[in-house]
Amino acid sequence: MRIIILAAPGAGKGTQAEKLSQHYGIPTISTGSILRRNIQEGTELGKLAKQYIDGGNLIPDDVMIDVMKDRLAQPDCEHGFILDGFPRTLTQAEALSASDIVIDAVLNIDVADEKIIHRLGGRVECSKCGSTYHKEYNKPKRDGICDRCGGALVTRADDKPETIQSRLDIYHQTTEPLLAYYKEKGMLRTAQGQEEVADTTAEVLRVLGD
Ligand code: AMP
Repeated sequence: MRIIILAAPGAGKGTQAEKLSQHYGIPTISTGSILRRNIQEGTELGKLAKQYIDGGNLIPDDVMIDVMKDRLAQPDCEHGFILDGFPRTLTQAEALSASDIVIDAVLNIDVADEKIIHRLGGRVECSKCGSTYHKEYNKPKRDGICDRCGGALVTRADDKPETIQSRLDIYHQTTEPLLAYYKEKGMLRTAQGQEEVADTTAEVLRVLGD
């Protein structure tokens, strides 16, 4: 299975990507995690990405396309993957369509903006492995500690209220048009995001025909 998850920031993209990863036994490729790891490690890519991410802006297309070409050519992607966060612009989508990678489905998780603003305010992320949790909807077993690896849970710098609004605006302007792009190609499946993570996962598997 090769699946793209297309959803607004905070719609539960990362969480559902992890669930699908476990379900199908294939890796999640999260552009946000790749970029944040590079920032932590102080690489050239990280230095460039930081200025864009902290302002809630997108990294330039040519940089992102090169990063993903390399990542998707790794052996762990051979039997499929879940793409979380790529493509995010029409240029990125066209670059993917022009490659020899065949995508099986594009999943849209539909959540209203007001809910997203509320949800992102309570989101925390593992500083070590990148797993995401929510203070209300998806609590870790121990407060402030990652269930998966024991790392410390932190609020992302780009989850500040003013940055959230800018990320949502960019989503509507730049990424939402991809819904029409993939609908036209007959690849789009839309799931309504639910309050509970498990309910959204059930809905996602239903629209993917599983
Ligand atoms: P995410 O964790 O997917 O919300 O990504 C966090 C941030 O990384 C975004 O707000 C962008 O600044 C950047 N980013 C992630 N994926 C992409 C992409 N495909 N194109 C451009 N910027 C991206």
